[in-house]
Amino acid sequence: MTDEPLDAVDVSEFEEARAHKGSLCSIGTTPFTAEQRTKLDFVLDHRPDIPHTAIAKVLKGWSYTIAASTVGRHRKRQCTCPPADRA
Ligand SMILES: [Zn+2]
Repeated sequence: MTDEPLDAVDVSEFEEARAHKGSLCSIGTTPFTAEQRTKLDFVLDHRPDIPHTAIAKVLKGWSYTIAASTVGRHRKRQCTCPPADRA
């Protein structure tokens, strides 16, 4: 049995794919206004009491159809958007 240390695994192609602009989730690619983006980022980061479904509903009101599951993924930073986009 060989135990490969984790950093011996070359994952650069995954990191490149992640860095690629086209791999942003729908929240990262939606052309929100600066005001909408500010509000959304604030709610995502600071209001855990507001569920993904409520956020998706508001986004729909802004005429962007984004699934609650996508909101959740983006919120938990499991998507591919760079952290800078969420500051
Ligand atoms: Zn995202």
